[in-house]
Amino acid sequence: MPFSNLGLSDPILKAVTELGYKTPTPIQKKAIPVILTGKNLIAAAQTGTGKTASFVLPILQMLSDKHPVRAKRIRALILAPTRELAVQVEDNIVQYSKHLNLTSLAMYGGVDYKEQKQRLIEGVDILVATPGRLLDMYSQRAVHFDELEILVLDEADRMLDMGFIEDINKIIERLPSQRQNLLFSATLSKQVRVLAKTAIEHPVEISV
Ligand code: AMP
Repeated sequence: MPFSNLGLSDPILKAVTELGYKTPTPIQKKAIPVILTGKNLIAAAQTGTGKTASFVLPILQMLSDKHPVRAKRIRALILAPTRELAVQVEDNIVQYSKHLNLTSLAMYGGVDYKEQKQRLIEGVDILVATPGRLLDMYSQRAVHFDELEILVLDEADRMLDMGFIEDINKIIERLPSQRQNLLFSATLSKQVRVLAKTAIEHPVEISV
């Protein structure tokens, strides 16, 4: 099955083709159509399976389909366990959104606040963040969640292993209750399922 059968728009297909992708990976075939319907999803997928594109591509599609009345506030939030992963996911967003008019930012601790705050003021559609720095920025009123439409918990098992459960729960409590939720994890362990239960109503479950 080619990428063009997945319901993605031409600017996204163009970016994917330019990157040399010929066919979607199994996780992309399963996840993209489900995400595009607006359903909640929990997916068991390892790194290297193309899982990043499996959530980024449909998010780009949904955000570019529907422009908000009041822009400049975060519409999609991707939580990631480490700075390295946050940077990597945001790099992918930049590549996949090359032909779209959407902005993204990777936000993580250990660096100065100033530049990240300036980028937030200028307007960010898709924020990729580590939980600690995000809460910190929220308490400084530098981020606002009132326009948030989509939450992604990426590498959920690693976030739990790293002790982020309290931070994640605090973040989720502050999000609008009407939103789409996506969770990706190498394994759907018992702890991951507990987290999924608190954050994600009636998810479709897939694994590859
Ligand atoms: P990930 O599992 O998201 O870390 O992706 C692993 C690697 O596969 C990344 O370098 C992607 O650029 C690449 N990739 C993702 N989807 C595809 C695809 N459909 N065809 C070829 N390469 C891909």
